[in-house]
Amino acid sequence: MKLIVLGSSSRGNCYVLKPDSGKYLVVECGVKLAKLKAAVNFNVRDCAGILISHEHADHAGAAEQAMRSCLPIWTSEGTASAIGTDIDPYGMHIMKPLMRYEIADFVVCPFPIEHDAAEPFGFIIDHPESGRILFATDTAFLPHKFTGLNNIMIECNYRTDILNANVRSGKIRKPVRDRIIGSHMSFQTCRDTLIENDLSAVVNIVLIHLSSDNSDAEEFRRGIAGATNKNVVIARPGTEIEFNNQPF
Ligand SMILES: [Zn+2]
Ligand SMILES: [Zn+2]
Repeated sequence: MKLIVLGSSSRGNCYVLKPDSGKYLVVECGVKLAKLKAAVNFNVRDCAGILISHEHADHAGAAEQAMRSCLPIWTSEGTASAIGTDIDPYGMHIMKPLMRYEIADFVVCPFPIEHDAAEPFGFIIDHPESGRILFATDTAFLPHKFTGLNNIMIECNYRTDILNANVRSGKIRKPVRDRIIGSHMSFQTCRDTLIENDLSAVVNIVLIHLSSDNSDAEEFRRGIAGATNKNVVIARPGTEIEFNNQPF
């Protein structure tokens, strides 16, 4: 399976999980639909669905447009009603936390996360080619531990010292800093969370949703790689990674 990153920041998030055979799954719908269609050669009929973690525009901005293109959206009830509008009820699949949903060859289990949104979700995504994927973004921390992970996509948004320096220099206002701390994952929390989980079968760790002002991508990559001894990649638009369940 290939992970294709179309966006991974507050400017827009979208990830395509494209198996070698069978339908593909999209996670987040925060980039222009044309960009998504181009990434899959405009073949929307092979789209199993689009998972949306929460209603913020950088994750759900193109949801309405996607539904108009008959792409099925999978999300929480809170996110669905926050997206609102005159959406086609047949194109919106409501997920309940900790339930399992079969979406083509994918099995998805959503879980609650900690963010300033109506009902935000992280996802455990199982597929025979990739093994078990953890997807978690826009969350101050992860309330659960996970077993059997093979590939991880996790937010690594900011480092506290960089954020505080930006507040001191006036680049970032204090209320903005407080919002970031309450609703996004720091490098420190990301590292501690990874170490606390069983990484023995993990092949790749993809760091997602880095802040443009409050992060240092290369240092984050090196820091997480050093702490976990895993292949660590920073998600950028255009990044493609082989997501298999074995390290070869
Ligand atoms: Zn976001
Ligand atoms: Zn958000």
